[in-house]
Amino acid sequence: MTRVLPISAAHDTHIAIDTATHTATGWWLEEAGGARPLPSLDGSTDADVVIVGGGYTGMWSAWHLLEAEPSLDVVLLEGGTCGHGPSGRNGGFCESLWFSAGAIRERFGDGPARELLRSSSESVSAIGAWCRDNEVDAWFNQAGYLCVSTGERFDGVGRASVEAAAALGSPDAVQDLAPDAVRARCRSPEFRRGVLVPDFATLQPARLGLGLRRRLIERGVRVFERSRVRRLGPEVVAETDGGCVRAGAAVLAVGPAARSLAPLRSRLTVTSSHIVLTEPVPDVLEELGWTGGECITDGRTLLHYFRTTPDGRIVFGWGGGRVAYGARVNGRIEVDPDVATELRDHLERLFPDVRGRRITHAWGGPIDVSPSHIPQMGSLPGAPIHFAFGYTGNGVGPSHLAGRTLASLALDRRDALTRLPIVDSGAGAWVPPEPLAWLGGTAVRSALLRVERANERGERADPLTRAVCAAPHALGMHLGR
Ligand SMILES: Cc1cc2nc3c(=O)[nH]c(=O)nc-3n(C[C@H](O)[C@H](O)[C@H](O)COP(=O)(O)OP(=O)(O)OC[C@H]3O[C@@H](n4cnc5c(N)ncnc54)[C@H](O)[C@@H]3O)c2cc1C
Repeated sequence: MTRVLPISAAHDTHIAIDTATHTATGWWLEEAGGARPLPSLDGSTDADVVIVGGGYTGMWSAWHLLEAEPSLDVVLLEGGTCGHGPSGRNGGFCESLWFSAGAIRERFGDGPARELLRSSSESVSAIGAWCRDNEVDAWFNQAGYLCVSTGERFDGVGRASVEAAAALGSPDAVQDLAPDAVRARCRSPEFRRGVLVPDFATLQPARLGLGLRRRLIERGVRVFERSRVRRLGPEVVAETDGGCVRAGAAVLAVGPAARSLAPLRSRLTVTSSHIVLTEPVPDVLEELGWTGGECITDGRTLLHYFRTTPDGRIVFGWGGGRVAYGARVNGRIEVDPDVATELRDHLERLFPDVRGRRITHAWGGPIDVSPSHIPQMGSLPGAPIHFAFGYTGNGVGPSHLAGRTLASLALDRRDALTRLPIVDSGAGAWVPPEPLAWLGGTAVRSALLRVERANERGERADPLTRAVCAAPHALGMHLGR
């Protein structure tokens, strides 16, 4: 029997930088036009399936439930407004799992790995097709992803994925790129060799989130916003301040807030990621030869990720934000502005021609991190409550796969999706309780920052710092891309 789950979540972040617009939710939602919250749940109601959380995972679950059984009565309870959490403010890299092919193959074996990777790739294309079919212009552009080395120490980056893809019989899925081939796509003075994953896309995350929300409402999903679920019982009953939903099954799709749920707590940590956005700089992109729409990261553990927009801006993000205590990022909704200021320096180092151009927006948000860096999906023991989380900053594509899978689980179907190796496979390692997780995570983050800053100066960090960086690996956790 599963215990009643008290649920709490706080994960809005808000950052300030120079003259940039300080937005809790980022530029994407502003560009997409935002959305007025729907009425909250008021009273009791029954449903076939109740979904808790209106990010991509919850919304794709609702979509696929209706695809499977159009007459199903689905209620979605969202604590804020659907698509206004990380799903509406991320970098918009829409990823398959191919860059993780090495880790996936090692963990699950060749046959199951092939199936998982193929399904993840299928989901990226399916998102593009969904946008076309549903007339949601989310700027979907399947232009591929580059992971590039920015220093000798990173020259091995992506090689394990290239080897794993070849060993799995899909050599084109992850391709080695010589320095010239990298420069042909983007001529940053810092770039060296790299790899190309052709099936990645970029999109406008808030346009996708709000488009999904709109289409779900049109299809009859009963969506209640500002309806935070406080308790979820195994019967299944989801309780908010204003009422409750009794259902045959539940989908828990609360993202980083999963860290606040007792049965899942030891399976994830929460860190933060931040983004700065330039004014349109099409001349800089032209000069860089970066006009193909590729999304790019470097190979650092606290990685930088960057992409362009149709009007010629650079979206530049960094996974080096603070570690959160419990499910909370930075306590309330403020983020240290130093993170954004530092991010601007990083941007100018990789793209010196951006110097002097305006940063118009800066924002951040929480990241649900799996110890193995592989997303987690499954069901709570003894109750028809199904979950997905732990995307580790890479959930835009995989949340679609999760939505398909959660729909099958909620309908109690046994199919190719529920047999994917990722389902009920556990976390790969155990995350200690607070305050140990926070203390350990913060120590490792500080050590990683010291190592990476030392490397940038061409120096080597001291042995103690290097030992702290190695500690998670010794505990079975995966760090970095
Ligand atoms: C700055 C930033 C950049 C990122 N960049 C990328 C990227 O480029 N590519 C990529 O693939 N991924 C990226 N990510 C990660 C990506 O955004 C997530 O993996 C993805 O959005 C996960 O979707 P989700 O639906 O699982 O979670 P979320 O989007 O977090 O949605 C969960 C929802 O649940 C709601 N909720 C929580 N608790 C409750 C409750 N008790 N009751 C009701 N509702 C509740 C929340 O309000 C929220 O709307 C980034 C994230 C951030 C913050």
